[in-house]
Amino acid sequence: MKVTPLENWIVERTQITKRSQKALKDYQLEQLINTLKYAKTNSKFYEKHLNSVDISTIKSFEEYERIPFTSEHDIRRDNYDFVAVPHREIERIVTLNTSGTTGDEKRIFFTHEDLEDTIDFFHYGMNCLVDERDKVLVLLPGPSYGSIGDLLKKALEQSNIECIVEGVLSDVEKTLTCIEENNITCIIGIPMQVLYLSRIKPEIFYKHIKKVLLSTDYVPDTLVKKLSNEGVCKVFNHYGMTEMGYGGGVECECLKGYHLRENHLYFEIIDPITQKHVLDGEYGEVVFTTFARQAMPLIRYKTGDMARFSTKPCACGTFLRTMDKVIGRIDNKISLNQHEIHLRQLDELILQFNDVVDYRAEFNEKDALHVKLTLRENFNSKSVVKEIQNNIVSDLDIEVKVEWKWDDYSSSITNSMIKRKIHYSNKGR
Ligand SMILES: [Zn+2]
Repeated sequence: MKVTPLENWIVERTQITKRSQKALKDYQLEQLINTLKYAKTNSKFYEKHLNSVDISTIKSFEEYERIPFTSEHDIRRDNYDFVAVPHREIERIVTLNTSGTTGDEKRIFFTHEDLEDTIDFFHYGMNCLVDERDKVLVLLPGPSYGSIGDLLKKALEQSNIECIVEGVLSDVEKTLTCIEENNITCIIGIPMQVLYLSRIKPEIFYKHIKKVLLSTDYVPDTLVKKLSNEGVCKVFNHYGMTEMGYGGGVECECLKGYHLRENHLYFEIIDPITQKHVLDGEYGEVVFTTFARQAMPLIRYKTGDMARFSTKPCACGTFLRTMDKVIGRIDNKISLNQHEIHLRQLDELILQFNDVVDYRAEFNEKDALHVKLTLRENFNSKSVVKEIQNNIVSDLDIEVKVEWKWDDYSSSITNSMIKRKIHYSNKGR
């Protein structure tokens, strides 16, 4: 196993003289203090938010933990107050609307240098999985300037790796033709969409695709297992969100969790209730702070994602920390008959069936849980539906109504960049 290429990159960029956590931590503390000063001076939001903080007293990570968190709600409410540069210096604005409600958008701002930092991370991060012999297809937003697809293409160009940016999957036939005609070997995409492609035309998918990088949403274990097709395809996970500058961390060849972009971001994991740090190995909410982000610095930003730091060093031999794979959103659960049901539990029970190309879980208090399956044609649907129903009832001890329909090439490809969740239907309320 080769050491994650992120290690050399981080050592070079930070100019730390020792390859040790201690040296990296010293660098990070210095950067955290710089971010505090920069944000308080240049961003209206942080001027107020950090009003009571005397930055000169912050001299340790323990003291840094007293700094107030930043939430998604803060961004929605005071969006433009976050901007820390004159507007003419903004090169890219990404508008995110996860709820679908107008007026509920949040905008994330980037300067040219901010985008360059992301390209730099992608350049080294992609070396974890591809080299000049690969041809990469990006099924993420692009190719417009500053989009994630555009930045990935620029990053891969620096390693002389060919890359086609097709954008979020919208035309399955076109994408499959593109894979065949261009001899694509690696796909970067949204977990459920890549699974969908592999299930619709496995013969094309596995003939060509040897590596996959999944991003934008948490990835169920079953999905990785199925997509890898007994080792035919290596499945790498990337962790990132637009607020991080798209990229946050990526798995090395060991595929045991992400090494993080620790020269640009400081990660913490907190107990969602006490808001205090959890121990390594314990799950909590991921919180991060940006270093040297010009347009929109973020301080102790709560991601809503659940993960934990690994307690074991990675087998690749790096001194960098490893974050175990994100297991989903904190709020992606329902309470039913005094049970807590997480989306990931449903994923593990449902996605193991190769005939399922997509599904939607809906919950309403009156009718309890509904699972709506989208199935591949030409097979005995009744037995799969029955088996899924039995699995949910016996494993989760809840009642469930399972419906299904044939796949019409549209359902799975409309979910775009919105993170998957358990839906609430209004019926019965
Ligand atoms: Zn590693």
